[in-house]
This record gives sequence, C-alpha cells and structure tokens, in this order.
Amino acid sequence: MQKRVLITGAAGFLGSHLCDKFIAEGYEVIGMDNLLTGNMDNINHLFPLKQFHFHHHDVTKFVHISGKLDYIMHFASPASPVDYLKMPIQTMKVGSLGTHNLLGLAKAKGARMLVASTSEVYGDPEIHPQVEEYWGNVNPIGPRGVYDEAKRFLEAMTMAYHTFHGVETRIVRIFNTYGPRMRLHDGRALPNFFYQAITGKDITVYGDGSQTRSFCYVSDLVDGIYRLLLSDYHLPVNIGNPEEITIKESAEEVVSLTNTNSKVIYTPLPKDDPKQRKPDITKAKAILNWEPKVGRKEGFAKTYEYFKKVIMEKEPESVG
Ligand code: UDP
Repeated sequence: MQKRVLITGAAGFLGSHLCDKFIAEGYEVIGMDNLLTGNMDNINHLFPLKQFHFHHHDVTKFVHISGKLDYIMHFASPASPVDYLKMPIQTMKVGSLGTHNLLGLAKAKGARMLVASTSEVYGDPEIHPQVEEYWGNVNPIGPRGVYDEAKRFLEAMTMAYHTFHGVETRIVRIFNTYGPRMRLHDGRALPNFFYQAITGKDITVYGDGSQTRSFCYVSDLVDGIYRLLLSDYHLPVNIGNPEEITIKESAEEVVSLTNTNSKVIYTPLPKDDPKQRKPDITKAKAILNWEPKVGRKEGFAKTYEYFKKVIMEKEPESVG
C-alpha cells in the first residue's frame, strides 16, 4: 500500500527537495508550510500530481491531518542566521511548539517521525571534527541561541516522546548544505557570494575568513536523510560533507568559477560565529552505508547555474 508522508517546511530549500525525493520513491506527500521563509516556486511543479497535497499552515498551531500517516519529516524553521535574527520568536516556537504538535500527531497516527536538527547544537565547538557524543558549546542568550536552543529542545522533546510514549523517532544533525533552491537573499555565505559575484558587487567575507565550514550538496544530504528515516537507529546522526574549507577559500572558489571582477572585502565577524565546523560521519557510514558523492566542483557549478537563472528571472536589472 502506498505510504503517506507529511513534510513540514515543504516549500523551503530542504523540504522541497524532500518532497521531490518521496514523490520519486512512490509516496503520497502532504506538504505543509506557512511560507514565512518558504517559496512556492520550489514546489509549483508538484501541484499537478495527484499524489501531492499542500496545506498552508503554521505548525506551531494545532496540526490536523485526516487519514493515515506513515512518516512525518519536520523541516519547518527559519534556518539562516539572518532569518532567525529577524524572527527569533517564530524560530523558537517552530522548534518547540511545532515539534511538540507534530510529535503528538506522530503518536496519534502511529507514524515514525524524523526531525531536522543541526550542527548548531554543537555551538562554537571545542572538539573537532564534531562527533554525535559531543554535548556542544552553545551560548543560550547570544543571537544564535534562539535557533540552537530551539533545536536542542527539539532533540530533547523527540527523545522524550521516544522513551515515554514509544514513538518511533529519528534525529538528523544537518551540517551546512547548499544547492539549487537556496534563497538568493537568505544571507548565508554561498548565496551571498554567488549573488555578489554574478551582479559584480563586493564579496563580503566576515572576519578574516579563517573560520571553516564543510559544505554538503543537497542531493547527498537528501539521500542520507532518507536512509536514516528507513534505518532502525533512533539516536542523532550527523549528515554532512566532511570536506572542510575556510570561508575565505570558498569565496575564492566562487570568484574563480564565476570569473567575476568582484573583489573580496572583509567585514566584521558576527557575534558567536562558530570558528570551525566539520562533521564526523563515521556513524552515517557505518549505520546508513552513506557518504557524500558530490564534490564542491560539481556542486558549486550546479549552484552557480541555478543562481544565474534566478537572478536573470527575478532581478535582471541587478546584473550590470
Ligand atoms: N559569511 C561570510 N560572508 C557572508 C555570509 C556569511 O563570510 O556574506 C560567513 C559567516 O560569518 C560564517 C560562514 O560564512 O562564518 C557561514 O555562514 P552562514 O550564514 O552560511 O551559516 P552558518 O554556518 O554560520 O550557520
């Protein structure tokens, strides 16, 4: 019998790619989004399909779905530092109240629920690379605290439903991910760099650019998440690409790929910006038989094509 999955944050970057994945795997997909940071352009192509449905709904309010549900994927949340600084209360509510509502739904339906956690639960990490056993170094009252603590609450609540109510749960800790459907102006490093390179603006590296990140291409991430959902492992699993790079180097790679005349400038580092981030993916390899396949060269090239297209469609005047 066809499986039914509810995906929250369906119109977002990761949510929309998950919708595509589950449709391709033969599921009936119910997408939910309040469109706070989501974009209907990401899922418009799914509306003609009879196995896709969309609910414009805020998961911090009571969530009702009629009929059976096999899986719930909770991906709703502002996810870029710029977004959660603008929407701190909504960010906290979707991670806490939203997670609670959906766990309640999972319990009522007997559904398995996978929650999107984050490398941000490790904060500004003191151990490197980050293993799942590390408890993290988060400043609860700093500007990132609203996201980090909401996701830490999400994990704690998920474990409580697992232990106390016997709900089948999965927790993925997602590291920096990129690719088509990232929001052009979401404020994150790669959309900024591509936008700036394509439109001939200065490329803004924050701080001296020596902080590191490890960027995972979206198709790899989606594959890892799908495997985790279908696995029988309920503790958190890191999914990300362990290829670490400094932010300065990533800006330089964008400059060279796009052949831009833009120059790299250095502006102040935001408060509590993590100095380094790299997933230890030993668990994902062992339990899910997963590792990333798409290197930065290929992933950056696809992302460049996407941003060029979006800019030509939405803001042709910004290209000098
Ligand atoms: N960053 C940057 N220039 C930008 C945007 C971000 O140098 O225009 C830096 C940011 O300070 C951080 C890294 O790039 O060190 C990644 O930032 P992003 O917002 O993509 O996500 P984060 O990993 O910090 O959540």
